[in-house]
Amino acid sequence: MNSLDFSSASIAEMLAFKGKEAEKLRSDADNLTDKIFGGNVFLRGIIEVSNICSKDCDYCGIRRSNDKVKRYRMNSDEIKQVIDSAYTEGFRTVVLQAGEDNLMDENIAQIIEYAKLKYDISITLSLGERSEKIYRMWRDAGADRYLLRIETTNRNIFKMIHPDDDYEKRLNCLAILQNLGYETGTGVMIGLPKQTLGDLADDLLFFKKNKFDMLGFGPFIPHRETPLKESATAELDLVLNFTALCRLMNENANIPATTATGTLDVRGREMALRSGANVIMPNCTPKKFREEYDLYDNKLGLSENADDSLARAQKVVKGAGKELLLGVNK
Ligand code: SAH
Repeated sequence: MNSLDFSSASIAEMLAFKGKEAEKLRSDADNLTDKIFGGNVFLRGIIEVSNICSKDCDYCGIRRSNDKVKRYRMNSDEIKQVIDSAYTEGFRTVVLQAGEDNLMDENIAQIIEYAKLKYDISITLSLGERSEKIYRMWRDAGADRYLLRIETTNRNIFKMIHPDDDYEKRLNCLAILQNLGYETGTGVMIGLPKQTLGDLADDLLFFKKNKFDMLGFGPFIPHRETPLKESATAELDLVLNFTALCRLMNENANIPATTATGTLDVRGREMALRSGANVIMPNCTPKKFREEYDLYDNKLGLSENADDSLARAQKVVKGAGKELLLGVNK
């Protein structure tokens, strides 16, 4: 396996593998994953705490100019209740995710303190770009991990799809998070308009170079109320090859089988777990809110409740021939 050539050109070639070659790539990644994680899959519960967003990203269904979406912001008690029930169900990590809604910043700190005091639980944040001061406040409150996707390392595409963002600023946020001692995750969308296999190879090289703790990615899936509504989505084969290469290039990283991959194909998450992924992130958002956290069309689990999402994740993990770690803070 060590003989694999991870030059940009060779990665691009492997991303395009089909048939036997693709199977071999994915099973190599799966074997390595089993060697490192012993066939265990880590569990993280996502709580989508607000869909209010100050940004207008071209791909995202909760972008600020989508006035068809009903906006919500969960209050502190509601979020604490979800953490309480997630803990009871066996979750030992929750991910608080939202649009870029900085009116929640103080509440988030207080919720982190509540959870860390009461439980043996890890707190991951996925709340977008903030100042060092706010990242530090949350870290001081006890937050363990932070997810901030670079979305694409092709600067032209980044600029094209992010009217409010600057690539260098995003990179700087990631550096700040790493310096503050967060376990830091990034990731990309696969199949963005104009994105080539070479771009995806560069994304993989960027992951490797910056030694992230977590790497999350999935297909770009168009949303009907966005400027990218007519764009094509990625093929599952490409997502799985990307997953396998991501594992082979980042042995110890936590790599989730994401909701977007499960939305692309009913067996998507199961296949991702057999191609290098080692994490599953069921949705814990209360049903009345989750329908409004509508990032892309047909998002998996929109009409389920939290119990259904956990039960479904358990089936997916079993289908992949792995074991889901419930009640373990890993
Ligand atoms: N505001 C936070 C959380 C964003 S939602 C932040 O910006 O970090 C989490 C992820 O969903 C995004 O990083 C993006 O990669 C993904 N996403 C958004 N719209 C998508 C779409 N149409 N298709 C696939 N993934 C999408």
